[in-house]
Amino acid sequence: MSDLLQFDRSHIWHPYTSATNPLPTYLVKRAEGCRLYLSDGTEVIDGMASWWCAIHGYNHPDLNVALAQQSNRMSHVMFGGLTHEPAIALCQRLLQLAPGGLEHVFLADSGSVSVEVAIKMAIQYWQALGRAGKHKLLSLRGGYHGDTFGAMSVCDPDTGMHHLFQGTLPQQKFTERPSCRFDTDFDPASILALEESFKRHHGELAAVILEPIVQGAGGMWFYHPDYLANVRTLCDEYEVLLIADEIATGFGRTGKMFACEWASISPDILCVGKALTGGYMTLAATLANSKVAHGISSQGGVFMHGPTFMGNPLACAVANASLKLLTESDWQTNIARIENTLNSELSKALAYSSVHDVRVLGAIGVLEMTEPIDVAHAQAFFVSRGVWVRPFGRLLYIMPPYVVSDAELTTLCAALTAYAQQLG
Ligand SMILES: *Cc1c(COP(=O)(O)O)cnc(C)c1O
Repeated sequence: MSDLLQFDRSHIWHPYTSATNPLPTYLVKRAEGCRLYLSDGTEVIDGMASWWCAIHGYNHPDLNVALAQQSNRMSHVMFGGLTHEPAIALCQRLLQLAPGGLEHVFLADSGSVSVEVAIKMAIQYWQALGRAGKHKLLSLRGGYHGDTFGAMSVCDPDTGMHHLFQGTLPQQKFTERPSCRFDTDFDPASILALEESFKRHHGELAAVILEPIVQGAGGMWFYHPDYLANVRTLCDEYEVLLIADEIATGFGRTGKMFACEWASISPDILCVGKALTGGYMTLAATLANSKVAHGISSQGGVFMHGPTFMGNPLACAVANASLKLLTESDWQTNIARIENTLNSELSKALAYSSVHDVRVLGAIGVLEMTEPIDVAHAQAFFVSRGVWVRPFGRLLYIMPPYVVSDAELTTLCAALTAYAQQLG
């Protein structure tokens, strides 16, 4: 093992792994397009887009230029009392792209922070209206919303980290995972549990928080748009705000600019992150409608959050360039192309008994296995086949950069099916 990897292994924490016996790490030298170039000369096709982020691929000339030009003007200034064109242009773009009714933008520094901000907005809203008893969140089982405390409290209570932080985590309300699949007829019975939660808890509920259509890190589950439409209706009926966490689904990944569009709904609060900067910088945003924003400030109230790096100009500049690239491309046709190939290639894996289910939506492909996957073994297998895939639990999934070629996509899918085949 090289000195670098030895130091890394001994001293550097990586996500969700042991400090003393960590999962192996691979040293990346550079990245270009859909490819990561490892220090030992291996070249891998990235199936993960660096966790949903690098939609235009790596080392993109437009994004490089945006970053370089902005760094020559200013890399950062505080956002308290100061503002700048990159932030203003970005917020204009976001409001143009987002579902209707969203009118106010809070720039946050990561997805988890944008979720904290969303939760605080919902709670402050009801406080300002004199209904402080409405301070709990209703969340869906199988959800994932980030790793900070407020976000953790609304993650799935079993697969999330609730057992580790019992007594410290705020206690929220949960309802069952939306059972009706995306690709079947809608079953109205699938909203009964949700309706029951509204009936029972609405007096203490500030908001429902959910990932529209695609539950990501909580299980890669795609549910029916009518479920989401029903949530919107129930929220209005029972006076509960709707927070849509589109940190993973936003910016075209599911085939719509935002997954809320599958149900033609608009949330009261929307979180975006991940692909916002095309994978270049950490940046997220929480958008709110006027009802929420004006409500919070109705009695002279102010929204109480202000990260040091709020509205960072470098991040905003590269986000502007990334959104420009996306909106000026024929991304719908491209996502449909990726979806078609994922469908035809991944369905082959159903031939193996190790595969429980295959799901595809937009540029997301999932093999749900029958047994948990050995991550270290699987990653070695995939790297030897020239692809980068990071499974979790029983899920083997890819969400490649949108610039992935048909040949690269076929190689990625073939590696997944080969993995299933060697398990039998
Ligand atoms: C990744 C993710 C988050 C957390 O974002 P970070 O930038 O990792 O803090 C929150 N919600 C969803 C749906 C995500 O996929």
